[in-house]
Amino acid sequence: MVRLSNEKDTWMWNIDIKDGFSVKSVKKTLISYRGSSHLPTYEWSKWVPIKCNLMAWRGNLDRLATRVNLRRRNVEITSVMCPFCNEYEEPLDHLFTSCLMAIRVRATFSDWCNIPPIFAFEFKDLMDIHNSNQERKKVKKILRGLVIITCWCIWNARNELVFNQCRRSSQEILIDIKSRGFGWL
Ligand SMILES: [Zn+2]
Repeated sequence: MVRLSNEKDTWMWNIDIKDGFSVKSVKKTLISYRGSSHLPTYEWSKWVPIKCNLMAWRGNLDRLATRVNLRRRNVEITSVMCPFCNEYEEPLDHLFTSCLMAIRVRATFSDWCNIPPIFAFEFKDLMDIHNSNQERKKVKKILRGLVIITCWCIWNARNELVFNQCRRSSQEILIDIKSRGFGWL
C-alpha cells in the first residue's frame, strides 16, 4: 500500500506500526505464530566453543545430518545404517545413546568423571544429565560442558569414519574428550 504525501518517504511495518521494523519485532511475531508448540529449550554452555554448542543445539532439535535424517529429507544415500555398529539404522538417538560405541564412551566417561553410570534413551537425556547430579552449580556447569564435548567428539568420530574411513575406538574418543575438555576448560 503506497500513500503519497509531502513528508519524507518511509517504509511501514504493519506488524508494529508504532516502532516500525525491527528484528525484535520479527522474532516476537514468529514466536506468537508458533502457538503452543514450543521448540525444546537449549541451555548454552559458556565455557565450550561455539561449534560444540551449535552441534548440541542442532542435536537437541534433531537437525543433525544423520543418515536417517538425510533420508527424511529425500537425500539419496546408499545406506541408512549406523556407521559405528552397522546393525541398526542411524537416527540421532541411536547414534548418541543406544549404539554400543556410545554406551562404551559413556561408560569410560562416567568412570573418568567419577560419577554414577549414565542412562540415556534420547539425545535430550544427555543434555539433562548435569541436573541429576547433586554437586555444586560450578561442577554441574563443568559436567554439562563435558557432556557437550563428548557428543561433539562422538559426532566427529562418526564423520571421520563416514568421510575418511578412519575408525576410532571408544578409548581414543575418550582421549579426544579429555584433551579438548582440559584445553577448553
Ligand atoms: Zn550403532
